[in-house]
Amino acid sequence: MKSPLEILQQYFGYDNFRLEQANAVENVISKKDTFVLMPTGGGKSLCYQVPALVLEGTAIVISPLIALMKDQVDALRVNGISASYINSSMSSFEQNETLKQLKNGQLKLLYVAPEKLSADNGAFLKLLNDVNISLFAVDEAHCVSHWGHDFRPDYLFLNGLKRQFPKTPIIALTASADEITRKDIIKQLNLQEPLVLISSFDRANIKYFVQPKQSVLQNIIQYLNEHPNDSGIIYCLSRKGTEEMSNNLRENGINSAFYHAGLSSMERAKVQEDFLKDKTRVMVATIAFGMGIDKSNVRFVMHADLPKNIESYYQETGRAGRDGLPSEAILFYSFADVIKLRRFAMIEGNEEQSDLMLQKLKQMSDFAEMQKCRRQYLMEYFGQKHDGNCNSCDFCLSDFETFDATVDAQKLLSAVYRLKERYGKNLIIDFLRGSKSVKISDSMRSLPTYGVGNNQDKNYWQNLLRQLIINGFLSESDSEFSVLKLNEESNQVLFKGKKVSLRKVKEQAKAVTVAEIETHYSAPIIEGNEELFAELRTLRREIAERENVPPYVIFSDATLMELSAYLPNSKEELNEISGFGAFKIEKYGEIFLPAIIEFCKNHNLRSKISEKKPKKQREPKKATKTTSGTFATTFEMYKQNFSVEEIAKMRSLSVNTIQNHLANFVATGKIEASELMDMSKIEPIIEIAEAQKIPSLKAIKDELGDGFSYFEIHIAIAYHKSQQ
Ligand code: ADP
Ligand code: ZN
Repeated sequence: MKSPLEILQQYFGYDNFRLEQANAVENVISKKDTFVLMPTGGGKSLCYQVPALVLEGTAIVISPLIALMKDQVDALRVNGISASYINSSMSSFEQNETLKQLKNGQLKLLYVAPEKLSADNGAFLKLLNDVNISLFAVDEAHCVSHWGHDFRPDYLFLNGLKRQFPKTPIIALTASADEITRKDIIKQLNLQEPLVLISSFDRANIKYFVQPKQSVLQNIIQYLNEHPNDSGIIYCLSRKGTEEMSNNLRENGINSAFYHAGLSSMERAKVQEDFLKDKTRVMVATIAFGMGIDKSNVRFVMHADLPKNIESYYQETGRAGRDGLPSEAILFYSFADVIKLRRFAMIEGNEEQSDLMLQKLKQMSDFAEMQKCRRQYLMEYFGQKHDGNCNSCDFCLSDFETFDATVDAQKLLSAVYRLKERYGKNLIIDFLRGSKSVKISDSMRSLPTYGVGNNQDKNYWQNLLRQLIINGFLSESDSEFSVLKLNEESNQVLFKGKKVSLRKVKEQAKAVTVAEIETHYSAPIIEGNEELFAELRTLRREIAERENVPPYVIFSDATLMELSAYLPNSKEELNEISGFGAFKIEKYGEIFLPAIIEFCKNHNLRSKISEKKPKKQREPKKATKTTSGTFATTFEMYKQNFSVEEIAKMRSLSVNTIQNHLANFVATGKIEASELMDMSKIEPIIEIAEAQKIPSLKAIKDELGDGFSYFEIHIAIAYHKSQQ
């Protein structure tokens, strides 16, 4: 019998198990029941796939998502594992062929849709009596529970499994189950003294950003232009919102599509498939999109509108970075969204439910408004301790300074006090600033605190108010129209001379600014060669087309990135690359190796495989705010008076990439625009850029004609930014 680790390396090409995988695998192999709670992308599949290969017989996998089932089976087959699936979308001929293979013991894994369990009075389950079964895996196990968010009646047929097969281990897997659901799953499936494995929910490779919801479209376009190779999802609240956003993106030359429940099922399948196959770069969607989206190379998830609760936010952002590479979650936040969503949260005649929804919405807006580590908030929300300082959320990446806010805090708190704790944020601020609004009565105006804050603008007071609440100096009632309330801390400040010291942002980290690209590019765990990476992606797409599977089923982005970084030149060296198992080396080695070898020859490069440390020792590089990695190198070389073309050649990057780097430095003021272009050209470029609603390089160029190059336009815009 092969050991699990040998199987992992030989068939899947991975060096070691992740998280709780090893424990799950051991437990199943010793024929005991197992319950696995792991976040999306954590690697649940291997928990039963590896035991299926270690044990004799066929593993039966119950999985509710037909689209996923096919992907999983395709992925197993390209690894040389005999697997198949059976569901009601197949003809009865196809189904019978599969069942024949099952009876003949030709399959290591068989994926089964839940509706197969109930069909023909449970004929399928009866048939299993004559089959040697190694294990049962119940994927998306929360579907068996009424408490879960996606109950499926067909799953109830799993109830009798244990009685029918008392000696066969069952492994139940899910990414979302609170305590009650967890217990219920174990009960419904009759798991016998199961080993319960709960992995951390932290998605370390996702960076979390929250940005004000202003010029959202422009911000998104800028982000997409700055990350030209990245594919991702943009969530909008309404169907109309998705259509508008997608159309706008298309007008700006961005390959995007929209998805919502109003499309026919055929259209939806097509749109989804194009996205999975890397034919559509950006998917603009309502939350209807997502269930079953197993695309591993989603690099960003944006929320153009506020999600209803943290659960949805976390699930949606969790679709980014399943391949483990650095990815970003960006939320565009405005308080107006909270007000809009409050209306949706009120369910007539069900006060209890409405309160719960409102409370969840409040937690969502707290997350967006707070000033602390976002990852810490998320982890604590899901009941796991986290010390903060994650170094990969906008808060942890920003620079702060502390300042004494006692006097202004006193003004604000005494306004609340004078107005008898009867009003909300807006009125208090208007009152402080001495507004002439009709909402402020004459008797209010006669109070001594009226207008004492008119030296600062509205923004300032809103900010201060928020910070006072976050830091516990002021409370807010929970009702629909929230009212500010004093608390013990407020009294300390008002009457006992307690000092208020607050933090102020010195430099805000953002996902969508030119400077941010530096952090983005310095984050990858390894730095691959961009040009080769692009070439390998093309190769992968060709193979995928031929085999009619999504590209990530062939290899993940992470694997291609390693290839382009370590440049393996032989099959032995390929063995060192994560994701290349023995079968894939034989099958695809001949396709990828010549491309890499050719690339090395043309660029005078050699294999760097000796630099690759075994995975265990490799630490992900921490994101830094200093100029680093690829940008710094370009800067150094530029300062040594190499031309753009020379730098591109020496670094084997495209000219375009180097020009992007330089434009960045112009925007941040590190390089003078005058070194790169004729300054008299700047004004006409900016004039046209500003006249356009959403400036895109192409549109500007079209209007300017041949006298101006793309590079000049790019630099002019960067220069203009640096001046603002
Ligand atoms: P889940 O079902 O939990 O959402 P998957 O089983 O689809 O996650 O795994 C997510 C990704 O992580 C896949 O691309 C998978 O190949 C990869 N992966 C899983 N386990 C490992 C491992 N031990 N080493 C490297 N990659 C892994
Ligand atoms: Zn953080």
